[in-house]
Amino acid sequence: MLKPELMTMRTFFLALILLGSICVSAQENESGWFAFGDSQTGRFASVDELNNAKKSYKYRVAKEVFDHLVEAAGNSNMIRPRFEMSPVPRMIAAAKGDEALILLEEKAYDICIGFGKDSLNAMATLLGHELIHYYEKHNWEDHFIREHQGLTTADQIRDKKLANKMLLETQADELGGLLAHTAGYTTLTIAPDLLSKLYEGYSLPATSPTSQYPSLEERRAIAQNSMERLKELIGVYDLAGYFLATHQFDWARSYYEYILNKGGFQSREIYNNLGVAAALSAMSNRKQDKPTFIYPMQLDFSSRMASRGGGVDEQTALLEEARRHFQAAYDLDPEYLPALINMGCVYAELGQWDDADDQARKALRNAKKAGNNAAESDALILTGIIQAVNQDKEGAKQSFTDAASIINNPLSELNLKVLRGESLPPSQLSGPISNEEQIDNFDLDKLFASFLLERFVPEKMISDIVGSFTYAMSREANSTILVNTDMSGKEIYGFVQVTDANYSAASFEGIKIGDPVSKVIELYGAPSRRMSAIQGEVLVFMNQQIVFRADRQGKVVNWAVFRIKRS
Ligand SMILES: [Zn+2]
Repeated sequence: MLKPELMTMRTFFLALILLGSICVSAQENESGWFAFGDSQTGRFASVDELNNAKKSYKYRVAKEVFDHLVEAAGNSNMIRPRFEMSPVPRMIAAAKGDEALILLEEKAYDICIGFGKDSLNAMATLLGHELIHYYEKHNWEDHFIREHQGLTTADQIRDKKLANKMLLETQADELGGLLAHTAGYTTLTIAPDLLSKLYEGYSLPATSPTSQYPSLEERRAIAQNSMERLKELIGVYDLAGYFLATHQFDWARSYYEYILNKGGFQSREIYNNLGVAAALSAMSNRKQDKPTFIYPMQLDFSSRMASRGGGVDEQTALLEEARRHFQAAYDLDPEYLPALINMGCVYAELGQWDDADDQARKALRNAKKAGNNAAESDALILTGIIQAVNQDKEGAKQSFTDAASIINNPLSELNLKVLRGESLPPSQLSGPISNEEQIDNFDLDKLFASFLLERFVPEKMISDIVGSFTYAMSREANSTILVNTDMSGKEIYGFVQVTDANYSAASFEGIKIGDPVSKVIELYGAPSRRMSAIQGEVLVFMNQQIVFRADRQGKVVNWAVFRIKRS
């Protein structure tokens, strides 16, 4: 349901911000800024200077990184932050919460460019950090005063202020790094170096902290700590994605829940993926008496939902859980169409047809308004399923046909077949079948044995992440191994080995990083499934036990080989 009073409020706030930027310089005073550093020498940029900066290519480059990060955060619940680039060096980068403004200074931009091929990663590190201050509503002074009322001495105040500041900085480093990672940037190794270059470039004190800012040494210590934690979160997040892609829905659920609850990181994608994991885990256990129409939520067109039976109560509980996660994704971003469509699918699966119909209509309306053809087509598929189950065969036929007229949607033909009572084509298993894939000459098949022999020494471990299962991560020369295994010695595991972004060797069939997706399909055959992701696309080949990730331009950015053994 639309809430007109909320929309008016939002319009009102937007008007206020516009007025603000016209009437007064946004940076006339220091208060309200959450700055990365303070050189205390520079002044604040004028409105003219900020407007001029918008014309430069530097602004455009940084703005693109900024937009990717904002998109990955997917939180349109809060006012979408603006981006400004200041030609005057003073704060490095900064967030101003009450104006929804993120600032990067040209000088900091130039320092980032000094990182060469990692320059965008360096920018994402800074901008991700500032965006977390904004999204997590870190208002340092307010926060500090609230927490530490009654302090008397200047020393006490300084110590507490610094401790408090460090807490928020750690969170901004960790969650900012994870945000950058979900948007496709690599920030893990950059942070300490970037800090040194920034402190040096801005002549900030290396050893003696000011009343407001930690010294470079303290700052690097924070970065080191948060990097360790970030490494863990990134591994858990990635493994969740691979488990979703390979249909280990229960594991995917637990791993995403860890990111939300223990990691404190939320994004619409995490809620949506969590919902998909719960819903598909319910559906993969349903009895075959349900309609066999294929929902637009299913990531996989070829594997049919099995008829293994399973408890109805448990399925309903899982579907209810999925609905709550899709609702949370929708609450974060009412314009996020997958959440609406997926919620509609869950209502349909629950047999709540009126609610399903409401969601489908809303999704269709919003997709048209946004000009999102893929979502419009999927919303029509859902509409068709609802019509078919409610005995409107003609309407269903029309909806399925319309869905295919907008984009090439394989769900159209498949669901038309179901409508005509035809059996569906068997899952295609084309392409060469092999277990020959190896990364860094590491034998993934022998990993379980090396666990028992304690030869495998992980860098990171989380015990009991899922029941009695342990998460572990270790490094090979140019790849990372992610592990989910039952440490009690039972042979149940999920292993994934992921190439680094600069892995130079080819896959077994001859794919190298940077190759087009078309070449992957040419060499590996039709993928078992293709999933869209924030950064691009994921292609899963169950037979060859390999997953390729492609960027928005359709180029391979990395791949992973996997082994899963569950019984
Ligand atoms: Zn900060």
